[in-house]
Formats: sequence, structure tokens, C-alpha cells
Amino acid sequence: MRRDRFMCVECKSREDLQVHHIVPWSKNVDLRVIDDNGITLCPRCHIDKHKYIRQQEAASRKESDVVRKKERETERRRKRKK
Ligand SMILES: [Zn+2]
Ligand SMILES: [Zn+2]
Repeated sequence: MRRDRFMCVECKSREDLQVHHIVPWSKNVDLRVIDDNGITLCPRCHIDKHKYIRQQEAASRKESDVVRKKERETERRRKRKK
């Protein structure tokens, strides 16, 4: 919190500040105590941040789906040639 001067890093609001943890605690227990694993956000930007993260995750999941589909298609094409 100190590093961000008690301001939301997104909109500079000083109200109702929360700390968003960049690395989820469940994924890395050791980082729980490290101060650097967090950014100061107001509740609104905090929600936005999590929406953004979920979108990113969904996008990367979709991407791997596309890759898998392409692999299946080339596989099918290969079989047809025989
Ligand atoms: Zn904010
Ligand atoms: Zn958070």
C-alpha cells in the first residue's frame, strides 16, 4: 500500500481502498507475506481488474480451443488422403 501512496493505481481515488493480489494466494502460498504482491485499488477498479483477468483467461482458453480444433481438422484431412 505504501508504494502506491494510498491511492487507487487506476483512478487515483482514495476512498475505500483495497489491495489486489497479483498472484493468487492459492497458487503461491509463499507470496502471501510479500508486500509487493499487491496493488492498491478502489472497489470499483478492483472489480474491473477481476473482470479483466477473467476475460484474459477466457480468451486464452478460447485460443487453445481453436488450436485443438485445427489439429483435429488436419488429422481428418490426413486420413482422407489415405
Ligand atoms: Zn479506482
Ligand atoms: Zn483482487
